[in-house]
Amino acid sequence: MMELRDKIQLLPDNIANQIAAGEVIQRPASAVKELLENAVDAGATEIKLIVADAGKSLVQVIDNGSGMSETDARMAFERHATSKINHIEDLFRIRTMGFRGEALASIAAVAQVELKTRRATDETGTYIEIENSLVKTQEPVAFQVGTSIAMKNVFFNVPARRNFLKSNPVEMRHIVDEFIRVAMAFPEIFFSLTANGQEVFHLERGTLKQRIVHLLGNHYMSKLVTVQEKTDYLNIYGFAGKPETAKKTRGDQYFFVNNRFIRSAYLNHAVMSAYQEMIPGDSFPMYVLFIDLDPAQIDINVHPTKQEIKFEDEKIIYAFVQAAVKHALAQFSITPTLNFDLDPSIQKLDAVENPFTEEKKANASASGLYSSFTQKNQAHFIESKSELKHWKDFYPEPKEHAFKSLLSAHQEESSGRLEYEAPVSGGIARSAEAKLQLLEDAPLLQLLNTYIVVSTNNGFILIHQQSAHERVLYERYITAAKGKPIASQRSLFPLTVPLSTPDAVLLQELLPDLKQLGYEIELFGKDTFAIQGTPADVDSGNEKTAIEQMLEQFKHFNSDVKFSRREKLVRSLAWQHAVKPGKILTQKEMKTLADDLFACSQSNITPSGNPTYISFKADYLEKMFGKG
Ligand code: ADP
Ligand code: MG
Repeated sequence: MMELRDKIQLLPDNIANQIAAGEVIQRPASAVKELLENAVDAGATEIKLIVADAGKSLVQVIDNGSGMSETDARMAFERHATSKINHIEDLFRIRTMGFRGEALASIAAVAQVELKTRRATDETGTYIEIENSLVKTQEPVAFQVGTSIAMKNVFFNVPARRNFLKSNPVEMRHIVDEFIRVAMAFPEIFFSLTANGQEVFHLERGTLKQRIVHLLGNHYMSKLVTVQEKTDYLNIYGFAGKPETAKKTRGDQYFFVNNRFIRSAYLNHAVMSAYQEMIPGDSFPMYVLFIDLDPAQIDINVHPTKQEIKFEDEKIIYAFVQAAVKHALAQFSITPTLNFDLDPSIQKLDAVENPFTEEKKANASASGLYSSFTQKNQAHFIESKSELKHWKDFYPEPKEHAFKSLLSAHQEESSGRLEYEAPVSGGIARSAEAKLQLLEDAPLLQLLNTYIVVSTNNGFILIHQQSAHERVLYERYITAAKGKPIASQRSLFPLTVPLSTPDAVLLQELLPDLKQLGYEIELFGKDTFAIQGTPADVDSGNEKTAIEQMLEQFKHFNSDVKFSRREKLVRSLAWQHAVKPGKILTQKEMKTLADDLFACSQSNITPSGNPTYISFKADYLEKMFGKG
């Protein structure tokens, strides 16, 4: 018999809470994030995180922030209880990390919670104990100003979830990840993390750079390039790792939007594309980037744990991020001595506080800035024509895209426009490099048989002869490897080179590519080769050593990174043939080298990312002499 009773009934509160809590608190690390964010929102300058048993038995956050009144302390654990939203419009002005009023309610639904809190204006504090969403104890307590919230035995009442927790090392890793993401965004706040009684992190207040190095490792200290661009529409600042810091594993990559850590494959792609050709395709650069924009332009509401956000206009942001990073990378090699540490107060950028109007938005997207960002060819990438022999020819705008960069498909696509002046005033400052003009008639000076001093319209540059030559040869070889071979001069008396068996196998593999590059080499008996011809511009006499050294260098690249065979060969040869420090150069040689360098498609760095020259500008020199 069918029963005709109505079936729907309301869930008991504690079950409803537990279900809702599942979205917010998935593991101890979720509580870490929520509690740290609450402490930040409370204006704390010191935040301590204590965990035991990878957070499974204890997650506690102690802050010196605003504290709560007795009533607020009780209210804080109610679902949808928040002090951060009053009106629906507030949703579009969110500056705090939290706003849903769900975290504490969720934690209280799945754990035992102890809260101690006191405001500066209150004499005594409040102590509250909650378990399974029920208040067990509430009483006055002596406590410092601020708040301490301890979550104990998470999921004690939801065994299925507790059993789902991973091993301690895995859960601890999640906790450390969350800790790093919050601590990174607030270098002006002291943070510590103590696990099982041992202090794992102790982060004094300081600059963003100091915070990054403390969190990610000292090896980044001299390897960070400052990224900083401001517009009416948005600001970006932070640091990007120099190309040599790129790692095989994705890891040290952080994006923050209005100080909130986010994941965005789209923006990550923008950064990766800025590094194109500087790092091997399968490696990942380090970056810590902060984007600040009007909260009305983003929707942080799309995901309960808020690691994903939607931008009103993704394309602008993409172009902006890409341009800012490119710009920074182009700059670092020419101004390595100017290292601007970001002040922690930058976190409170005043552009952030300014109201963002429709009019402003219209202006922003109509501006040249927007259009220059949305074009493929960024101003920061200077392309040139290989035929240009004189600097004065180099600076006026080339008529057409004659030098098809062979470095990448991406660059091949670009329109080859050469920008040398800031097209937008008040937009992104153009790099110093872009305005650099070498004085053609001024004599060149070689220093320490290694550096070449070249006068510019605005100071001077110091070229490293080996690095510069390496860049020049690299581009020449790349072109030859893919197109017209380099002319070879035949040796009258072929030299024979005996090699070890592994080296012989390797050389055998490289012969076709070497031929393109001007080397005529043939197998001449077991493991022995005969050099029949060498590139026209290689001194004869040391071909044998040259081949051996090239193989050594090739093997070095082999174990190091996964370039294509040809790329490795070209890099090895460029390195091998570049003039070495100590070689005295004539005026003519120096002039040719400088000419060739500035005809390169990327003149400011070696293929491996070291600077080829350093620029000293007049205003910088003045500052050095205390006059600026
Ligand atoms: P939300 O952060 O979304 O407002 P929570 O559940 O995380 O929601 O917190 C609820 C409220 O409790 C907050 O709005 C805030 O008023 C108060 N609160 C939570 N943690 C703290 C803290 N550490 N110091 C002061 N007030 C806090
Ligand atoms: Mg919160």
